[in-house]
Amino acid sequence: MTQKMHAAVVEQFGKPLLLREWDIPSPGAGQILVKTEACGVCHTDLHAARGDWPLKPKLPFIPGHEGIGLVVAIGAGVTQVKEGDRVGVPWLYSACGHCEYCLKAWETVCADAKFGGYTQNGGFAEYILADPNYVAHIPAGLSAKEAAPIICAGVTTYKGIKEAGVHPGEWIAISGAGGLGHLAVQYAKVMGLKVCAVDIDDGKLEHAKRLGADLIINAKNCEPAEILKQETGGGAHGVLITAPSLSAFKQGVAMTRKLGTCVLVGLPPGEFPVPLFDVVANCITIRGSFVGTRQDMAEALSFAADGKVKADIELQPLSAINQIFERLEHGEVPSRVVIDFEKN
Ligand code: NAD
Ligand code: ZN
Ligand code: ZN
Repeated sequence: MTQKMHAAVVEQFGKPLLLREWDIPSPGAGQILVKTEACGVCHTDLHAARGDWPLKPKLPFIPGHEGIGLVVAIGAGVTQVKEGDRVGVPWLYSACGHCEYCLKAWETVCADAKFGGYTQNGGFAEYILADPNYVAHIPAGLSAKEAAPIICAGVTTYKGIKEAGVHPGEWIAISGAGGLGHLAVQYAKVMGLKVCAVDIDDGKLEHAKRLGADLIINAKNCEPAEILKQETGGGAHGVLITAPSLSAFKQGVAMTRKLGTCVLVGLPPGEFPVPLFDVVANCITIRGSFVGTRQDMAEALSFAADGKVKADIELQPLSAINQIFERLEHGEVPSRVVIDFEKN
C-alpha cells in the first residue's frame, strides 16, 4: 500500500488550501525523494494559489518552492547526490539541458523548464520529488530553515541586482522590502552598493535600515522618485522592483537614473504604463529577471553560508498555511515565514 504524507493542496484557485493526505511519491529513474525539513512561503505561492498568471498550474497541486530537506531515496542512475545530502527544491525544478538557452547557461528561460510548486508539486508537503540535476546544494553550516528563503527570495534578488549592472559605490533602489526585499538590501550592501529601500510600510522600512539601507522612502504618501533624485543627484543607477503592486513599477522606472537599469522582479498580474519619452531620452533599460541559474544559486547560498546575508525568519507549522497566506496578502508578514516540519 502507498504511504501517505501531510500536504497543503490547492484544489481550486482563490480558495483556501486544503490540508490533506497525499501519496508519498516514489522516485523513478533519474529522480530523488527529499524529506522536507523546512519550506519558505513566497508571495509567488499566493499568485499560484489564486491562478494570477497566464500560465496556470494544473489542479490540484502542492505549492512551495523554497523546500529544503534531506535526500531519503534515489532512483536508478542518480549519481549527482546521495542519500543524506541536504538539498533545496527550487522554482527552477528542471530544464531540458540542450536548448539554445540551456547551452548558454540561461536555463531559467528554457521553454521546457518545469517549476517547483507550480507545474510540479512543491514543498508544502512532507516529501518532495526532485530532479537531482537542478536541486540546490545546501552548504554545511547553513540550517534548512536559514537556507529556505535563500533558494528563491535570495537567489532572485542576488541575480536581479547583478542584472542591474551597477558598480560598487553606486545607488540601487529596492522597491518592496518584504521577503525578497529584506534579502536584496543585504546582498546589495555586500556588493558595495548604496541602498535606498522603498516600501509602503514603516516597519519594513525601519527593518531595511537596520539591515544597512542608507536611505528609506515610504511611497504611500509621496512620489519616491522626487526624493530619491534629490538625495542621490539624479536617481538610482539600478532599481530592483520586488513589490507585488503595479504602482511600484511606474515609480521604479521614474526612480532610474539616466543610463540606468530598472529590473522588474515582482509579478503582480497586469500591465503598467511606461513613460516612453523619458525612457528613450534618458536611455533607460527596463528588463525582467526570473529567479537565477544554478550558478547564481550556488553564489547566493555561499553568501548566506559565510554569514554575510541572513534571512529573517518566522517559523510556523504547515497547518497555519491559510493564515500565513492571509497575512502575506495584507502585507503583514515582516520578512519571511518558513514552515518548520518539526512543528507538525
Ligand atoms: P512580500 O509580500 O514578502 O513582500 C512584498 C513587499 O512589497 C512588502 O514589504 C510590501 O509592503 C511591499 N509593497 C507592496 N506594495 C508596494 C508599493 N506600492 N511600493 C513599494 N512596496 C510595496 O512578497 P515577496 O515574497 O517578497 O515577493 C514579491 C514579488 O516578487 C511577488 O510578486 C512574487 O511573485 C515575485 N517574485 C518574483 C520572482 C522572480 O523570479 N521574478 C521570484 C520570487 C518572487
Ligand atoms: Zn519565490
Ligand atoms: Zn532548455
